[in-house]
Parts: sequence; C-alpha cells; structure tokens
Amino acid sequence: EPVLELMGIEKTYNPGTPGAVSVLGGVDLRVDAGEIVALVAPSGAGKSTLLHIAGLLDTADAGQVRLAGQEMTRSGDVARTTARRREVGFVYQFHHLLPEFSAAENIVLPQLANAVPAAAARSRAGELLESVGLTARAGHRPAQLSGGEQQRVAFCRALANAPRLLLADEPTGNLDPATSDTVFAALMRLVRETGLAALVATHNLELAGRMDRVVRLEGGRIVAG
Ligand code: ADP
Ligand code: ADP
Repeated sequence: EPVLELMGIEKTYNPGTPGAVSVLGGVDLRVDAGEIVALVAPSGAGKSTLLHIAGLLDTADAGQVRLAGQEMTRSGDVARTTARRREVGFVYQFHHLLPEFSAAENIVLPQLANAVPAAAARSRAGELLESVGLTARAGHRPAQLSGGEQQRVAFCRALANAPRLLLADEPTGNLDPATSDTVFAALMRLVRETGLAALVATHNLELAGRMDRVVRLEGGRIVAG
C-alpha cells in the first residue's frame, strides 16, 4: 500500500532569474507502508528539497505528491498543514528537542498540540521510549543524554502522533559508527512495529544497504540503487 507517491516532481529555485538553480528534474518515487527506503545522493543533489516537498513543507513546480492516497498537489495551505501534522514525522541531523523539557515531555507536547488527552499522551511517550530502550531516560533533559539517545528520542517525538510517513534527513550524520548502529536498529524496530513508511536520506552506504531498498538521486532524478 503506497503511503508516499511522487510523480514527475520538478523544482527550480529562483526561476527566471540569473540565479536559477534547477534541482529536481522529474522525480518519481513510491514508498509503501512498512518499507524503509534509503535515499542516497551527493551533497547538494537535492535530498533536502525532495524531503521537504514529500513532507508538504515546500511545493513543487510540476508533478504530483500523494500522501496516504490523497492528492496533495493542488491542496490549499490548510489542508497541507493538516495532512502534514497527521501523516508526517520529521527527523533531522540534529535532534531539535526542546532543551528545558524531559525526553518524555518532548514526546508528549506534540500530542497535546494535537488534542490528545494528557494521560494517553504520557502513556504513548512511555511506549515509544520503551521500544527504543530509553525507559530509564524518560525524565532526562536532552543535555543529559548522549548523542545517540537524543536521536532516539527525536525518532520517538517524530512518531508521537502516529504518522504514516517518516522522513529523516541524515539522522545519523552527526554520530560515530557504533552509535549510528544503535540509532538505526531503533529506527528499524519502530518501522517494523508501526508499519510506517520511512524515507531516510543518508551518506552512510553501509546503513543504506541494510534498508529495504536504496534509491539514488542523481542529476535531478531517481535512479535505482
Ligand atoms: P542536499 O540536501 O542534497 O544537500 P538541497 O536540497 O539542500 O541538497 O539543495 C540542492 C541545491 O539547491 C543546492 O545547490 C542548493 O544550493 C540549492 N538550494 C537549496 N535551497 C535553496 C533556496 N532556498 N534557494 C536557492 N537555492 C537553494
Ligand atoms: P553513547 O554510547 O550512546 O554515545 P555516551 O558514552 O555518550 O553514550 O554516554 C553514556 C551514558 O552517559 C548515557 O547513557 C548518557 O545518558 C549518559 N550521559 C552522557 N552525557 C551526559 C551528560 N552530559 N549528563 C548526564 N549524563 C550523560
């Protein structure tokens, strides 16, 4: 079952000016429920642009974006924001956790913003932390956690509202190899447990090779791994 479908996505920054940068020239990509896909590309190839379009943070110049079967290309801002908040979780290279809140609170807050009752939100935060092996760290603030632990919490936060699509941009880019392994194992467990679709941009070819499928972004298009 497709969760993300990109068809003929094109994107040029500063079109029609001398500074025009054509980044995506017809990207076709599909990610199914329960599938974790590695997106590999040289720096500057347009990975972040592609993830932002897939996650409805940015719009394409041409092509179609379908999220959970819904055509989002010509939807208005309100519909796009609602779909993004319901269906998409983001993880970046740096965790962006709120420093003055505990790990558990960082996972509870996005649920409260989504009108989930506090008790249910706390219970879900506990389950997510348990599935990444961080039950004992629930009350720690981000600065009291190691880099690997911070990223595992960031994954939990991204999944707080049970999105169907996870988009991760170099989630282990700042971690040493052993820690990357731990974070990646936690990610795999979350994907398998939730049936989520995940698209993970990475420079780490070894990690990419352990995902279900590898796609490369080259010359503005997707080519098979
Ligand atoms: P990656 O994530 O693969 O490094 P990006 O999607 O961030 O690539 O950027 C792709 C290209 O688009 C780069 O050449 C970058 O300089 C350019 N670019 C990205 N964002 C903008 C922007 N807002 N305005 C102009 N050019 C941009
Ligand atoms: P990792 O192998 O995940 O990188 P570290 O060796 O960095 O872990 O940290 C080991 C343990 O010490 C972690 O469980 C972490 O919670 C704790 N820790 C790391 N940094 C701090 C800190 N600044 N304050 C309190 N505890 C910390």
